[in-house]
Amino acid sequence: MPIDYDADLSVSALPAFQDNYVWVVRGLLDERRVAVVDPGDATVVEQALAQHQWILDSILITHHHADHVGGIEALLSRRPGEDVPVFGPASESIPGRSVALSGGETINLTRLGLTFAVISVPGHTLGHLAYYGHNTLFSGDTLFSAGCGRLFEGTAAQMLHSLDRLGSLPGSTQVCCTHEYTASNLRFAAVVEPLNEARVERTAQVLELRAKGVPTLPVRLSKERAYNPFLRSREPSVRAAVQAHAGRAIVDPMEVFATLRRWKDEFRG
Ligand SMILES: [Zn+2]
Repeated sequence: MPIDYDADLSVSALPAFQDNYVWVVRGLLDERRVAVVDPGDATVVEQALAQHQWILDSILITHHHADHVGGIEALLSRRPGEDVPVFGPASESIPGRSVALSGGETINLTRLGLTFAVISVPGHTLGHLAYYGHNTLFSGDTLFSAGCGRLFEGTAAQMLHSLDRLGSLPGSTQVCCTHEYTASNLRFAAVVEPLNEARVERTAQVLELRAKGVPTLPVRLSKERAYNPFLRSREPSVRAAVQAHAGRAIVDPMEVFATLRRWKDEFRG
């Protein structure tokens, strides 16, 4: 009988800065203990911990950008002598990192009863990691709802490969990314695939959620595969739109993806 891992873990999104989320992760083993993912801001985390009487168990980091790591040191300095492991990419400078990872490992948050596979997803940064377990993916700035991260350090080929890896996880996976970019990403997706019905449906849902100030995340991966142009760069409709935008024939999937990413960089919608 297949096991539904959803019940083992619960997530909640703490809004931070303009459009970031710090993800709070709880397991069934001890519901007071939490892990946080990418705590760019310590204040929002401390407020949530105090409000819910949660205990900070561990910190997971996807990459080195300040809006993902900025709160680590303040969180640790308020807990001297406590064992709060900080998991993060080995090849990047991560304040307070105690467990250096490069992808391919499994991490056990034993006090939460949770286990995550560590996936190397270079592109946005070279050391970028994603954490996957219990039907949940923490994708940082690699996979967004209806979009993907900018190529600050890696190549388009690396990002395409990274998205292929994440996109091939089970469709029931709930995707937890770090930014609320969904509405603007969908505006770009509408230009790429104006006739995509899944995109139309998602847009209506997102507008409704945002009008209420509710996060558009997490989102199921199966849905993302239906409208996220960056998971769909091999679809004839996406390729045709990219070719029309570039004004020339492009057949190589990597070049289609690279052109799509550049198009989004320049898009003002
Ligand atoms: Zn980033």
